Amino acid sequence: MIPMKTLNDGNQLPALGFGTYKLNGEDGIRSIVSALEAGYRLLDTALNYENEKEVGEAIRRSGIPREEIFVTTKLPGRHHGFDETLLSFEESRMNLGLDYVDLYLIHWPLPRIDKYVETFKAMITLREEGLARSVGVSNFTEEHLKRVIDEIGVTPAVNQIELHPRFPQGAMREFHARHDIVTESWSPLARGNEVRDEPVVTAIAEKHAVTPTQVVLRWHVQLGAIPIPKSSTPERQRENFDVFGFELSQDEIASVSSLESARLWGGDPETNEEF
Ligand code: NAP
Repeated sequence: MIPMKTLNDGNQLPALGFGTYKLNGEDGIRSIVSALEAGYRLLDTALNYENEKEVGEAIRRSGIPREEIFVTTKLPGRHHGFDETLLSFEESRMNLGLDYVDLYLIHWPLPRIDKYVETFKAMITLREEGLARSVGVSNFTEEHLKRVIDEIGVTPAVNQIELHPRFPQGAMREFHARHDIVTESWSPLARGNEVRDEPVVTAIAEKHAVTPTQVVLRWHVQLGAIPIPKSSTPERQRENFDVFGFELSQDEIASVSSLESARLWGGDPETNEEF
């Protein structure tokens, strides 16, 4: 069984999840079903991935009871605003074909538009109505989080941020820990090959008789972050899920963190705008 983590609202979610970006159409449904068969119980989608219907269909096809699966989706930039958020949520919920969503996130803060505070107020309304069991944000900086907490008095349950050995996010993780916000890591494998090819990572993998990708995912778990790796391949899905049978030493965690260089593609939350 996969370990669970508890959110600041008391709800629980698995310590590792499955990313679904780019999993579209019939092939996408098949990949998501195989991830569920491999044991994943946390699915991460977004209105902007244009695959919420596929995620809903995969859940139904898997035959796994809906309440055993933790479903996350996200509000796009074009729908920031109180009323817009309520409507956008309904669109996502209809796409998914679900009565409720487990976690609803603001996809990007878009500080230039400056509507993320009222947007989060609408998220809280959705939570109060039981339509979104937990509410959180994605790509928020300390400043954005502080404004939400100060102006609304509610702390988002989750902040899903870019986090991988090239960008370990030490300061954000500390801030999250102080405020009881769970960190989720997007692009946990840094999307490409170069992290798992790093000699530091391959040496640790050899020592533990695991794969370099498993070392990277275990590093996330021991940092206390929830990685949501994506893979279209059943074998890789199983490999990525199997990271709870070994433990890295503090030195090994530090060596993986020493691979820090920069964000993958410049997704700076202060300036990146996705609508
Ligand atoms: P990722 O999970 O870091 O990497 C995915 C890539 O790694 C794919 O090309 C996959 O190829 C490959 N891969 C996976 N497991 C592998 C293995 N064991 N060995 C070799 N290659 C492997 O990147 P991501 O999809 O960008 O991020 C994961 C999820 O985070 C997304 O799907 C999405 O749900 C979320 N996300 C959120 C945001 C946000 O703004 N909130 C931004 C980006 C991503 P194959 O599929 O061919 O196996």
